[in-house]
Amino acid sequence: MRNAVIVMLIIFNAVCIMVSATLIYSFVSDKNSSGNIGMSKELTNAQIESLNAQVNSLENLNAAQSNTNIVQSNIIQSNTTSAKDAQTVKIDKSKTTVSKVNTSVRGLPILMYHNFYDASKGEKGKDNNYTEISAFAKQMKYLSDNNYYYPSWKEVYEFVEGKKSLPNKSVVVTIDDGSQSFFKLAIPILAKYNVKATSFIITSKIGSKTIAQYESPILEFASHSHDMHRAGKDGKGRFLTMTYDEAYNDLMTTQKIIGSNDVFCYPYGDHNDFTKKMLTVTGYKLALTIIPGRVYPGMDRLTLPRVRMSKGDSLSNFITRVN
Ligand SMILES: [Zn+2]
Repeated sequence: MRNAVIVMLIIFNAVCIMVSATLIYSFVSDKNSSGNIGMSKELTNAQIESLNAQVNSLENLNAAQSNTNIVQSNIIQSNTTSAKDAQTVKIDKSKTTVSKVNTSVRGLPILMYHNFYDASKGEKGKDNNYTEISAFAKQMKYLSDNNYYYPSWKEVYEFVEGKKSLPNKSVVVTIDDGSQSFFKLAIPILAKYNVKATSFIITSKIGSKTIAQYESPILEFASHSHDMHRAGKDGKGRFLTMTYDEAYNDLMTTQKIIGSNDVFCYPYGDHNDFTKKMLTVTGYKLALTIIPGRVYPGMDRLTLPRVRMSKGDSLSNFITRVN
């Protein structure tokens, strides 16, 4: 049925183009031969009508295609052909209720939070890594109200490998460092809005007891190293300058405490060929950096980018980041 409507609209559109072309041709001929101003004006009005008809038919065609697409491809696809399709069919979003068509070009945002503060209690975030808790609540409410999908790390892995598509509205929420403010302020918000998140903890500071206490269907703990979250010889994260044995022992200890090696988060985002090699040796499937950006199929799964959330981010800013 939809296909029939699309075909009819295409035919209608083609007829409009032909009418328009004929009118333009006669207009040009007339002007060249006689220069009759009255006639030109009349033809111009006819042209405008014809062009309006074409615009309307294109809008109808786009709406029909949007409806088809929303059913058939409401997913983040793992190929790049659809990026071209998205450009070919330009949807005027203000004239259709369908807001997401062919958004495979958008990639998967992995949001990165750190600490939280409560302005209503007079607290002030120390630096840009602090998110005001009522702002965080609004952001999580938005995800919940708009039925976002929170893929597991296994699904993220398959997405990066090009083996799996994800629902269009997919987002991953990560919170680094396991600060007191995360436990006190953010966890209740995640629970309230039923938003699934991953807390990257330094396992020499937060151990199995806390994990057992807080782990839930919506809260997963993952490794931010066992004891690499401090400066090394060169002033950067010490993972970069550790020996093979030091790094190996740290990674094996931390994954034993976490109970999984699905994903690792580089302290300070610092990484190089050595850190990648060590994560491979110890079986990690994914690793997150602080490189800004979204995740696309085909990316290096051991240096994935993230979308940094900062103090003072407005809700509209957030909405742009997850859409
Ligand atoms: Zn950190």
